[in-house]
Amino acid sequence: MKVGAIFTDYDGTVAPIDVPRSKSRPLPEVEDVLRDLAEKVPVAVVTSKPCDFVMPRTAFAWAWACNNGLEVVWGQHHVVYAEVYQKTGLAERVLRASRGLPLYVEEKRLMTGLLVGVSLDWREEGPRQDLIDGALEVAAMADRWGLYVVRYSTEPFIDIFSVRADKGRAVSMLRKLLRVDGPLVYLGDSENDGPAFNEADISVGVTHKYNRGLRLDTDISVDQSSLARFLRSLRARQHF
Ligand SMILES: [Mg+2]
Repeated sequence: MKVGAIFTDYDGTVAPIDVPRSKSRPLPEVEDVLRDLAEKVPVAVVTSKPCDFVMPRTAFAWAWACNNGLEVVWGQHHVVYAEVYQKTGLAERVLRASRGLPLYVEEKRLMTGLLVGVSLDWREEGPRQDLIDGALEVAAMADRWGLYVVRYSTEPFIDIFSVRADKGRAVSMLRKLLRVDGPLVYLGDSENDGPAFNEADISVGVTHKYNRGLRLDTDISVDQSSLARFLRSLRARQHF
């Protein structure tokens, strides 16, 4: 069977989650085969990361859904979830509340510079309970203020967005924009990928040592160390 498109999460799926943020890159073998596949079928990255972080690291992709789908970029197209313009003050408020936390505070900005969320990331400091507690405290505050808080059981960060969005909506939009013809494969590694798995025709759960205990409801499960091989088998089936 030929596939019509490959959409993928970034952190923990094509890139390892246990390297410092500044050194984060897709696994070289995975990047090589995705670059090959992108010559034949649409490849898109669907991530909670901001575009300025993920786009330079995944230049092989045709399109990106960044900030959990609040922003979609494809060629000259730039689609933003309109509600973010009504709630900009909320993200600024959370950013102010996060200042002083001894962990990495990622500012989630649209490509226009507008702040739409923050990520509280303790991967470089390790899973220290005091850091996690500090992040949870800000997250609880954000919850009360009406922001959308995404907690992960396996990722070393908490994402907070001014507006609720999910990756499923982004997958469905990109499927239309890219005129996907044929089964859409989605690769992801966490519960935040659930709505995208549901939108896909073939959902692929990527496992690694940090999400072993997590039950992802996917059609296929692939260990991250075998992901390049799995993608090569898809490429072989494309009869390129
Ligand atoms: Mg992930």
